[in-house]
Amino acid sequence: MEPSELHPATIAVTVGRPERAPDQPLNPPITMAATYLATGVMEYGRYGNPTWTAFEQALGELETGRCLTYGSGLAAVDAVLNLVKAGGVVVAPRHAYSGSLMQLADLEARGRLSARLVDVTDTASVIAACQGADLVLLESPTNPALEIVDLPVVIPAARAAGAIVAIDNTFATPLRQRPLELGADIVVHSATKFIAGHSDVQLGAVITRADEIWTALKERRDLYGAIAGPFETWLALRGLRTLHVRLDRAEDNARQLVEHLSTHPLVEEVRYPGFGAIISIVIRGGASIAEAVTTSTRIWAHATSLGGVESTLERRRRWPVETLTIPEGLVRLAVGIEDAGDLWADLESALDTAAAVGG
Ligand SMILES: *Cc1c(COP(=O)(O)O)cnc(C)c1O
Repeated sequence: MEPSELHPATIAVTVGRPERAPDQPLNPPITMAATYLATGVMEYGRYGNPTWTAFEQALGELETGRCLTYGSGLAAVDAVLNLVKAGGVVVAPRHAYSGSLMQLADLEARGRLSARLVDVTDTASVIAACQGADLVLLESPTNPALEIVDLPVVIPAARAAGAIVAIDNTFATPLRQRPLELGADIVVHSATKFIAGHSDVQLGAVITRADEIWTALKERRDLYGAIAGPFETWLALRGLRTLHVRLDRAEDNARQLVEHLSTHPLVEEVRYPGFGAIISIVIRGGASIAEAVTTSTRIWAHATSLGGVESTLERRRRWPVETLTIPEGLVRLAVGIEDAGDLWADLESALDTAAAVGG
């Protein structure tokens, strides 16, 4: 497909709209349809939906490829892992999103494939692990460790080793990083997060430029049915229209918070990759003090997930499935678009409360 000459902000707002003609709605309608009149291109609800198409056009153009939407981010990850032949090898970050790691562990336990988990900050060892791999599924930044993969070096090396390269771009979004332009074969999204952006939708997406990969994924989505709901897709497209404005604001808030956090005595470490709206902090004193921080805020919501307009925080190790090398005291901050001063005042007061509890 031809690369768009438009800037991402214009793509986000303009792509995936009905044809311009008198009395056409400005926005695509939510098409609720389990079947269509015969002999067209869609035929049945599992095979296609005009609301999916609108969203897929917009997100596909932002990521510079062709998009397929799924019922959740993990359904999209599952679709990508299913490209691997029986007995194949998958390389993934040891600190990847816990759900993706659990899928790999489950597939490995059932003898379906084998996983090589790597420290993504060690570029040489990542490249070594790619030799003989069928799929390299990376995340950058990683969730929740916020490690960065040297994508311009690792992507070509993994492709040269013969692997399919897929990047989970949930944290960076296509506004901060476009892996297909760096040579990756596939981009995966939990559109639940920044893309939809309002913590009210569960949705996933896969984007690729390779026709054979797109066709394989589409045929399996048709057959296995991991499809999205039209209403969810419509909400995600509505959210995508403001992604650039939301992300700029949340990132600006995050930068201000990083400044404040790095001077607070209860904060042992601030992890921030320099862009985006996620900050991970390590609280001095471990699990119980960190837990006290997360339960003492009034504006920040104590909740999992990220990428919404509302700021949320949680101690990741409260989940038994979180990787054991993630520090007990690590709190992931998902910065929203509220006033930065209010966010800091609330967080500072929670840190002070927790420090007092810890005595
Ligand atoms: C949340 C998340 C997922 C899973 O997405 P769901 O929409 O919750 O299924 C996958 N990858 C990353 C990086 C995530 O943060």
